[in-house]
Amino acid sequence: MATTTFSKKTLGLESVEPAVTPPPAGAEAAFNKKPKLGSTKSKKRDIPEGLWTKCPKCATMLFDKELDDNLKVCAKCGHHFPIGARERINALVETCSFEEMDAQMSSVDVLKFTGAATYGDKLEAYQKSTGLKDAVITGVGRINGHRVALGVIDFNFLGGSMGSVVGEKLTRLIEAATEKGLPLVIISASGGARMYEGMFSLMQMAKTCGAVAYHAKARLPYISILTDPTYAGVMASYASVGDLILAEPGAMIGFAGPRVIKDTTQAELPTGFQTAEFLLDHGLIDAIVPRKEMKPRLCDYLQFLTVRMKMAAALG
Ligand SMILES: [Zn+2]
Repeated sequence: MATTTFSKKTLGLESVEPAVTPPPAGAEAAFNKKPKLGSTKSKKRDIPEGLWTKCPKCATMLFDKELDDNLKVCAKCGHHFPIGARERINALVETCSFEEMDAQMSSVDVLKFTGAATYGDKLEAYQKSTGLKDAVITGVGRINGHRVALGVIDFNFLGGSMGSVVGEKLTRLIEAATEKGLPLVIISASGGARMYEGMFSLMQMAKTCGAVAYHAKARLPYISILTDPTYAGVMASYASVGDLILAEPGAMIGFAGPRVIKDTTQAELPTGFQTAEFLLDHGLIDAIVPRKEMKPRLCDYLQFLTVRMKMAAALG
């Protein structure tokens, strides 16, 4: 059983040059310099004027502030950088309209997993580095006029892997959507099921899909948004059963990664294999929506699906 933390490498994805943030000029000197305690005069001088990130696709140096303002999309080539769950929610829902659900739910180390580090230690480290209790944020918010149940996976927390907490929080979200008659939107970025939890993580696949089936039976729309990367147990469960499946440009989406498939089948893979663009051509996803267009496009889709599903329900 795989016990490593999910990363693009362990998923068999092509290596992507990490975004580089070079230190500002004079940063080393400033680091070695002892700060003058009690002095406020030097404070302004020590703050770097800006940080830069190199686009892994077009190699343009991008000013971090501008990159943030552009929802972490390269202004030159349109490359979509990873973005955290909270930033995504802030970009989509109306200010102050998001009511988070089950914010304090956190995982338990049922298997008493030990390896290079215990599962408990890993959870603690990721909770500290991300400020999240686990890899998903769920809640109800407003996207323009539409009240929606929204779940967003954060890849920064253990590769966005689905353990018992991610599965349970999503299931509660879907059940709440069914009960309140709300459309469902889930944004995924995940390496799959969380193997630190063994069978408990695999059970979440059936549980989330079961909840989605009841939501569908109530004739409510479910939009699944796949971002880079969405793989394995997540793609093989709730993420691939949306009424509408959208993806961000260039997102890698699949079950096993291309390197694993190539090694297993000993066959050359077609160009663009498992990219959102390839999957759109082959009918797995319905549309590719750039991050900056996601909100207005979601509104259009929600409007269309809500009206259609109400008409279908009225006709029985
Ligand atoms: Zn670029």
